Amino acid sequence: MKVYFVGAGPGDPELITVKGRRLLEEAGVIIYAGSLVNPEILKYAPPGAKLYNSASLTLEEVLAIMQEAVARGEKVVRLHTGDPSLYGAIQEQMDALEGLGIPYEIVPGVSSFAAAAAAVRREFTLPGISQTVILTRRAGRTPVPAGESLPDLSRHRASLCLFLSSQDLAAAAAELARGYGENTPAAVVYKASWPEEKIIHGTLGDIAARSREAGIDRTALLLVGDFLAGSYQRSCLYNPAFSHGYREAKTPHD
Ligand code: SAH
Repeated sequence: MKVYFVGAGPGDPELITVKGRRLLEEAGVIIYAGSLVNPEILKYAPPGAKLYNSASLTLEEVLAIMQEAVARGEKVVRLHTGDPSLYGAIQEQMDALEGLGIPYEIVPGVSSFAAAAAAVRREFTLPGISQTVILTRRAGRTPVPAGESLPDLSRHRASLCLFLSSQDLAAAAAELARGYGENTPAAVVYKASWPEEKIIHGTLGDIAARSREAGIDRTALLLVGDFLAGSYQRSCLYNPAFSHGYREAKTPHD
């Protein structure tokens, strides 16, 4: 029997993968990140499954539950919000399982940064605006390495998505404004894809105040960049004047 690290998606129970849902339906033990995973998703669990909320557990306790379940021959699902590869603290779990000789597999999920782009109905990678997405967080109790501070990253003026920083939004926006400038469009997406989703639009200069007025202090992403508004170049891919491996040019280049 294996341990499956499954991405639960951003909240909407229909945004888990087909594979993730099947594994939940077959699980004997489910350990879920209760602070962020939508409890609605647990409706896919079979009636007899044992559920553990990892919010109150240490790494050692999580590993003990996994080890005992696998020894009993039960399938274990470790359910993480969004995609497990982002701020999921799964590396330490995987390395420990490796040491214990317990097989495991990772099933990716829809990250909240993708759900936030869907919520605001914008594309991160607009030609002539930005072809790069920075996924980051502000330094908090977890430090960020040198060179990855928000003022450093803001110099690229790339499309940016800030995790885990709703409580420091004013400081984050001020740091980002150093490279982007105060007038750069910004949006806060609270609980993307949940029924209570909220979207706040503004600029780096006013987004923190607007978000505070809306009462948002957790489970939100800050999106920053010119991709949120304004003009851009049309794509080459779907331009009739452009040929590529799957299509000849339909009109001459000018
Ligand atoms: N692995 C997750 C991120 C976990 S870190 C993922 O791929 O999305 C937790 C942070 O993710 C939160 O502080 C918040 O910034 C963000 N987050 C998670 N779910 C969210 C949602 N539905 N809407 C907005 N932000 C979300």
